[in-house]
Amino acid sequence: MMPKERILQLRDELNQHNYRYYVLSQPEISDMEYDRLMHELIALEKEHPDLADPASPSQRVGSDTDNTFTQVKHTYPMLSLDNTYSEDEVRDFDERTRKTLYLDKVEYICELKYDGVSISLQYENGRLVRAVTRGDGEKGDDVTPNAKTIRSIPLLLKPGNHPDTFEIRGEIFLPHKGFEAMNAERAETGEPIFANPRNAASGTLKTKNSALVARRPLDCYLYYLPGLEKHFSTHFESIQAAKEWGFKIPPYIKKCSNLDEVFAFIAFWEKERDGLPFDIDGIVIKVNAYRQQQLLGFTAKSPRWAIAYKFKAREAITTLLSVDYQVGRTGAVTPVANLEPVLLAGTRVKRASLHNADQIALLDIHIGDKVTIEKGGEIIPKITGVDLSARSADLKPVRFIEKCPECGTALVRSQGEAKHFCPNETDCPPQIKGRLEHFVSRKAMDIGCAEATIEQLYDHGLLKNAADFYNLTAEQLVKLERFARKSAENLVNSIELSKQVPFDRVLYAIGIRYVGETVAKKLARHFLSMEALRKASVDDLIQVGEIGEVIAQSVIGYFANERNMELINRLVQAGLQMQMMTVETNISSTLHGKNFVISGVFRNHSREDIQQLIASHGGKNQSSVNSNTQYVVAGDGMGPAKREKAAKLGIPVISEDDFMQMISS
Ligand SMILES: [Zn+2]
Repeated sequence: MMPKERILQLRDELNQHNYRYYVLSQPEISDMEYDRLMHELIALEKEHPDLADPASPSQRVGSDTDNTFTQVKHTYPMLSLDNTYSEDEVRDFDERTRKTLYLDKVEYICELKYDGVSISLQYENGRLVRAVTRGDGEKGDDVTPNAKTIRSIPLLLKPGNHPDTFEIRGEIFLPHKGFEAMNAERAETGEPIFANPRNAASGTLKTKNSALVARRPLDCYLYYLPGLEKHFSTHFESIQAAKEWGFKIPPYIKKCSNLDEVFAFIAFWEKERDGLPFDIDGIVIKVNAYRQQQLLGFTAKSPRWAIAYKFKAREAITTLLSVDYQVGRTGAVTPVANLEPVLLAGTRVKRASLHNADQIALLDIHIGDKVTIEKGGEIIPKITGVDLSARSADLKPVRFIEKCPECGTALVRSQGEAKHFCPNETDCPPQIKGRLEHFVSRKAMDIGCAEATIEQLYDHGLLKNAADFYNLTAEQLVKLERFARKSAENLVNSIELSKQVPFDRVLYAIGIRYVGETVAKKLARHFLSMEALRKASVDDLIQVGEIGEVIAQSVIGYFANERNMELINRLVQAGLQMQMMTVETNISSTLHGKNFVISGVFRNHSREDIQQLIASHGGKNQSSVNSNTQYVVAGDGMGPAKREKAAKLGIPVISEDDFMQMISS
């Protein structure tokens, strides 16, 4: 098959699978199979840049180049809806509507009000050309590269009778599951966590790096097509057509012929909203007929043909019994209120968040107070108020602790920080365990060691810092409860393998505050070795793009600590990668005269790393398999075309491990 035909075929297949998976939730192939097709497409497009297409499914993986957001004027202003919390105001809305239209009855469409970020998508000849945020309603930010990474947004519409150009609007949101996973990951790297899914979605959509956006499980429901009065007679019809064109249209929609049906819809979802996999904050009621919408028109701020009924925040009143202080993996201290158990939105609540010392002072909260708790978008309820009139004179104010409840060290609070921290990074138990968990995590050293195992090893005194991993033996492990010979050996092997993890990930793994995955990569590429980084001054550090004063001071502070240096020295002795492999460094000539083709995704190294390793051992990299190729190094998702060709020419296909063996011997 010609490359062009294959590319078109892959795009078509991926579009189909994408639609089935993300819009219909009826996948036909496994994730691995999907990734394999995607890798093949990306590889082919790379080999044939003339066949590039901005609507190709390959665009969904995003790009590491920072994009800038230009401001774009909306064709139709993106107005907000009139909001109300009162059923009476919904009745008024209905009465006003019927009066203006001289009708006894008006047909309404009820929909859920998604708690996310509004988006406007523009299509030309069936292709997504632009995605713009609401902004101030008149102008918004062009976030097209980011929107393209959201799998439920079609880049190419199904063939059909869609207008040549049109706009569709909806809401980008983060489902609960994705939100929790994302916060867990951020907590691990010491990044601030998001307060609720809406903040997380809007923060993500404003991220400049679209490859990063692609890794976040954003979703998008579309529910409004402005300006199509010539094509359809009702809102409902337009939405059904959009569904046929391939858009993800919410199934939670109801035609209501009177106000009773509207209220029934409201009552149903007010009760059932907790069962949804995402947040909603109310119901939207729209006049269905376009003709009627036009007669009703707009005020300066909002359409007169729609209203949003917002759910009341779910509140309850209970008594504050005591306050606990939890120390997180980063040393951040969070006050948690213990409450007299109370029912709130269908669940029994006995704990609530108090956020930080400022919040406690602001509420002037006393132990024994009657407090109001509220459940909003957050998973844990929070205390929002105190009933001062119910307070008896003998109650004592909550005093924020001064010492760490885990290790007794005096807490510190830096200027501009909301939270108190335990500064005892090296000896505070939750912080030690947190650092160990971070060290073994997949993006760091990728050691297969579960949280519970770390806990167990720590409790037995076998593991006090990351360097201790490299002293563990299978003999020691089998003596522990729950360790079989096989699992002990697996852990030891996994630790051994981590010695090949490249330097940038080692740098990320040691857990310098503010040095996340991306910063670690930048520092590693700039300084090339731990030794050079250790010697760097603040000035040297801020020379590196995007490294500011705070990160620079944190790096300097890390290396100034003797115990950190001790750890690093032990890691050096253990044989971890403490320098970047670069093309310039010629390590050996083991691979002299040999040509390699690499394909797929590798477990311990990036493609670039492997290419550099080939070069630094005297080998040559080739982009495609031919009769001069000696080896194909294959990772996950190697293209079948390459595999076929290698087989035909009798060229050995080797794994990442085989390759590492080859250069180490
Ligand atoms: Zn502590």
